[in-house]
Amino acid sequence: MFLYRERQTLEKFFPGLDEMLLDIPLMEMESHGKPGEQGNPAIKLFRQFNGPSLLIPARYGGMEVNPLQAIQIQRALGSRSPSLAVATTMHHFTVAIIQEMIADESNFSLFQQVAQEKLYFSSGFAEGRTGSNIYESRMQVKSTSGGLIISGSKKPCTLSVSMDLMTASIMLPKQEGKPEEAALVVIPADSPGIERYVFWGSLALTGTESHEVRLNEVYVPQEYIYNMGNPSQLDTVVSQSFIWFELLACAAYLGIASSLVERTFIANKGISSERVNLAIEVEGTMSALKGLACSMMNGERGDSVVAQALFVRYLVQNVIERVTVRAAELLGGMAFVKSPEVAYLLASARALAFHPPSRLSVTSGLDNYLLGEPLVI
Ligand SMILES: Cc1cc2nc3c(=O)[nH]c(=O)nc-3n(C[C@H](O)[C@H](O)[C@H](O)COP(=O)(O)OP(=O)(O)OC[C@H]3O[C@@H](n4cnc5c(N)ncnc54)[C@H](O)[C@@H]3O)c2cc1C
Repeated sequence: MFLYRERQTLEKFFPGLDEMLLDIPLMEMESHGKPGEQGNPAIKLFRQFNGPSLLIPARYGGMEVNPLQAIQIQRALGSRSPSLAVATTMHHFTVAIIQEMIADESNFSLFQQVAQEKLYFSSGFAEGRTGSNIYESRMQVKSTSGGLIISGSKKPCTLSVSMDLMTASIMLPKQEGKPEEAALVVIPADSPGIERYVFWGSLALTGTESHEVRLNEVYVPQEYIYNMGNPSQLDTVVSQSFIWFELLACAAYLGIASSLVERTFIANKGISSERVNLAIEVEGTMSALKGLACSMMNGERGDSVVAQALFVRYLVQNVIERVTVRAAELLGGMAFVKSPEVAYLLASARALAFHPPSRLSVTSGLDNYLLGEPLVI
């Protein structure tokens, strides 16, 4: 019964997918994804099942699952195919952020296209600079008639191999007397000036296709430039999509950890109280994630729900740290040495800690918030 509800929801929206993922050896899904080579087969399969339309509103041809269903699906996917769950988190997050930013109905043709043609978005925020604010870009941006010309590098850029549409954060050219503003641009992945280079050197999550994408004088028309506001202040647009990101990423990584826990039950390893304790930790944490999903569904907005998202995120991170180490111990040395899978899952689940915002970078902001000040991340 472990993961029963999650897999039931996955089956409801993607009948047959779970079984097909089970048929692909884990390390085959996880080891593909370099530029110039074929991508991760699970990402291809998810596209065939129309996975890219998961969060797209039904009126544009999407599945429009709610936050509760979305986290169940992400956890179920993470338990079978870690890189697929993490990579699609980046795609769905992009759908969520664009949806928040689009004011003009006519722009929704983008979503219709994504749903109909099963297109993947990449999500290019990071630029390989450690210790920087993810929303502050150093891309070179020039104004031109009807749009912008953009150059620079995005890395890591998940789905760099399978992406159809690249999204990239930029800073808009500064206007006299106005504060700096960030924007998100959407660019067809086959546009002139886009090149991919190998960047991801880790064995963990190779299948997320998280390499470098270089943009060399790429033209972006005005209608594909979405203003995100002042990057140092979490405004409504950014904060709402940020909560989506935390929900989906936490569920995906909890799914990876759940896969290790599940193996202890299947292999009947350790003693029952140890195994059940692991289940108590992951199921309790899933309930905390569901609480966050319910806050979103109740329409809660603002600092309190952003803070809730952060509390839940670091809870998930802590629980993953504890349960994966314990589950690997219960599975034993032979399971660890005879196959790369246990070590692989152990390392991959840990990578939740490497998604911004890092725990240490927000603790003083949360500390001040808990003392009654506005939340600053
Ligand atoms: C699988 C995966 C896929 C990814 N895909 C994408 C993608 O497609 N697009 C994208 O934009 N990004 C993506 N990212 C995120 C990107 O990789 C991160 O931005 C990057 O990992 C940040 O690493 P960093 O070393 O710069 O971390 P930093 O955030 O700089 O942290 C480095 C260290 O400094 C500490 N630290 C930071 N700030 C403070 C502070 N104020 N006080 C005290 N300590 C502090 C941190 O806790 C940490 O220990 C992905 C990440 C992963 C793991």
